[in-house]
Amino acid sequence: MELLCEWCGQAAEKGENTVYWELPDGTRAIQITETPAVACEDCKMVYQTDEIIKKIEDQLFLIDTKKIGKCISYEELMALPRLLKRNYFDFS
Ligand SMILES: [Zn+2]
Repeated sequence: MELLCEWCGQAAEKGENTVYWELPDGTRAIQITETPAVACEDCKMVYQTDEIIKKIEDQLFLIDTKKIGKCISYEELMALPRLLKRNYFDFS
């Protein structure tokens, strides 16, 4: 399936980038490296899909964020043990 850029509608590539994410409690922001992203050659946008955004948000809700340093890779973040089995705060 061809991946299309959400911004300009041109063909885009799967890539990864570093993102800055505010923790759910708003105390600080962390740096997440090697985050799956969509990269568009055409308009130069690099962005996370809604699916990835939701995965990160859910994970940050479910883990002990005090254990995260300033910087973590996406893979390491997703591998952290969850305190709850599911996100009870997700009413969507
Ligand atoms: Zn684009």
